[in-house]
Amino acid sequence: NDTNELVVDVVVIGGGQAGLSASYYLRKSDLDFVILDAQRNPGGAWQRGWNSLRLFSPAEYSSLPGRQMPPSKGDGFPTRIEVLNYLEDYENRYRLPIERPVRVQNIEKQPNALRVQTDNGTWLAKAVISATGTWSKPYIPHYDGAETFRGQQLHSAEYVSPEGLTGKSILIIGGGNSGAQIYAELSRVAGTIWATLHPPKFLPDDVDGRVLFDRASARYGEGSPQGGAPLSDLGDIVMVPSVLEARDRGILRSVRPPVRFTEDRVVWEDGTTTAVDAVIWCTGFHPALDHLDGLGIKQTDGKIAVTGTRSIDEPRLWLLGYGDWTGFASATLVGSARTARDTVREIERCVESNETAHK
Ligand code: FAD
Repeated sequence: NDTNELVVDVVVIGGGQAGLSASYYLRKSDLDFVILDAQRNPGGAWQRGWNSLRLFSPAEYSSLPGRQMPPSKGDGFPTRIEVLNYLEDYENRYRLPIERPVRVQNIEKQPNALRVQTDNGTWLAKAVISATGTWSKPYIPHYDGAETFRGQQLHSAEYVSPEGLTGKSILIIGGGNSGAQIYAELSRVAGTIWATLHPPKFLPDDVDGRVLFDRASARYGEGSPQGGAPLSDLGDIVMVPSVLEARDRGILRSVRPPVRFTEDRVVWEDGTTTAVDAVIWCTGFHPALDHLDGLGIKQTDGKIAVTGTRSIDEPRLWLLGYGDWTGFASATLVGSARTARDTVREIERCVESNETAHK
């Protein structure tokens, strides 16, 4: 073995909210561990996102395990900056062993360990938790002619504020929360069209992240049996103040997406065209799993087959925080705690029983 290889029980890849939740429970266990995070600063994906972005729920419904998020100092739900401050404070409070910036490039199977190779050192781990999120993998669907379009194109991952877009003719594509919020904001200062594949599904006005919290609790046996249904049964879009305000202005409606782009226009299904200066793709993300390519376990849909959060094909690997496929509501602050707790319990059992050796 290379003498520079550091040996630990668990490597956590990613220091966002999912990685921190797992680390909270690892801190309480007898396992030794390290968190490797590619960013220079704390906060994971919350370092990105647009200035007006607010949480879907009050601070007390948006906390990681062990430590309440302080109430927002503003008049609404917490801002992106308040979440960032909370996550930084959380790392310090629990003295979490985070190495930054360290990007994991590859993972190799060894007889008794997984070998985690990075741009700054190599670790040998009995178990690996991958919690790398989705923010670095924005997804843009294919549209004929989009490559010839000469206007501005932006993914919601890059959108910061209306600055530079005022007065322009803008097409916003995508029917989720990002699309609704960015459309609502830009429609105040620019000519906007909102295009969605299906008619947008709005949640009732009084439903926000608190319902998600209650449903997550119910699913884990702490509430009513019918409470565990996914939030998407009710709708997709949370009626945050900016979206409510757009509805009051009577503009909260979408059209079907265009069929193709030209150099400066979009062409609709009926053959008519509209001149467009900028397109904002609010079309979602894929899980950031490039660092697992070397294991050869990725499915054709880009995900990893799991039972609970544990990889079926590489049983020394767990995945956290990517979406419902890695635990109900696991991609939210409050939902990340439950799957993290169960995952760390499972890892403790496996390491204690030496189940992770000789694979
Ligand atoms: P991330 O926060 O992305 O953290 C992953 C970390 O891993 C990053 O620091 C990344 O740099 C690092 N990384 C990636 N690859 C590597 C590698 N190879 N090696 C080392 N490190 C690596 N959530 C809520 O709970 N409440 C809300 O109200 C809410 N509102 C939202 C509104 C919008 C419009 C959007 C888009 C999201 C919202 N979210 C909300 C969700 C939340 O922003 C993300 O889902 C969450 O930040 C993901 O956390 P994570 O820890 O899984 O990943």
